[in-house]
Amino acid sequence: MTDYDPRTATGIPTEPVGSLPRPSWLQRAYAQYDAGEITRDQLEAEQDKAVRDSIEHQEATGTPIISDGEQRWSSFATYAITDTLAGTGLADNLAGTGGQYFAIFADGHNRQLPRLTGGPFRYKTYAADTLRKSIPMAHKPMKQAVIAPSMLALLYPLDEEIPGYSREAFEEDLVGECEKDIRQAFAAGAARVSVDFTEGRLATRNDPRNPWTGRNMLPHFIELNNRVMDRFSAQERSRIGVHTCPGGDRDSVHSADVPYSDLLPSMFGINAGYFLIQLASERDKDRVYQLIGEKLREDANGVTQMAYVGVINPLNPRVESPEEVRDALVRAASFIPKEQLGATDDCGFSPFSIDEKPSHGSPDFARETAWQKIRNRVEGTRLAAEKLGVG
Ligand SMILES: [Zn+2]
Repeated sequence: MTDYDPRTATGIPTEPVGSLPRPSWLQRAYAQYDAGEITRDQLEAEQDKAVRDSIEHQEATGTPIISDGEQRWSSFATYAITDTLAGTGLADNLAGTGGQYFAIFADGHNRQLPRLTGGPFRYKTYAADTLRKSIPMAHKPMKQAVIAPSMLALLYPLDEEIPGYSREAFEEDLVGECEKDIRQAFAAGAARVSVDFTEGRLATRNDPRNPWTGRNMLPHFIELNNRVMDRFSAQERSRIGVHTCPGGDRDSVHSADVPYSDLLPSMFGINAGYFLIQLASERDKDRVYQLIGEKLREDANGVTQMAYVGVINPLNPRVESPEEVRDALVRAASFIPKEQLGATDDCGFSPFSIDEKPSHGSPDFARETAWQKIRNRVEGTRLAAEKLGVG
């Protein structure tokens, strides 16, 4: 763990969620790797190049903390179990077909998970394995995102029992792997670790095309996340966050129509130190700010929770101005105690490695847009801190 203080640079803390669009040349390299046209080493050389570019551009925005843009990952949800979205390098005891939909998005496309076929369940790649390659390229503190146990719980078939590997045994293994993922990320030098929990909001959607969303799984999701949190001290958990959003893939969402009141009261039951909450793209922001103010906990098993509210929409190419960011945070502070307020982006800029970013025209243009958005988030956060007298 580092001694990073998130208030030093901006007064009000601010941090990104994690992902950035992969440049189109990196997306081509992934396809070539899947086709057997380039080697693993050649793919890694391209990933290195993309990480270096991602770090340089983020550092130039003035942000106090950066990520490696997840350029080495198949996706935010599957980095641990497969090298590419096409299934090259799938982990043991998983099948690439017949798995559950993680989500069906508003534009009609879907993303499917692999299917567990037996035990034991083990990660093939921990977040620290890729962070260790990226950290030497950085001059600023780095955060690391990891996937929530509740997402990977969906690898287990919804209704069948796997012979010789009960759901209980799987979930015990899963919680252990998630703990290890977070611990190793800190050991590798991450200043903060946030857990991606996009499936939380989807869990009450009741989409008949996607059966798990109709099984009232949210309480179980919260319990799984808390089983992981329970393994960390309050001091460690002050640096462990949880990210919620309605999805953000191909500039589309999967659960924006699920009211936050279905999720947030339960979500703040997770004993994490901070939350990265999509909000810029919400229609009725005041209601959400108010809900956060009511439900955010001062004492979550020894840690005071912080709410980092989304002030940037990564699905929309329009760049928010610093003043807009400032005003959103000042407004939020009339509902949320200003000592518990932070700023973030609504989501990662591109959680999946293959993403055309259709509203932006190309992933390359979306990257250029991302640098401007991050710069304005940081500047706007500083302005809000001045106005509110924080930091
Ligand atoms: Zn997200």
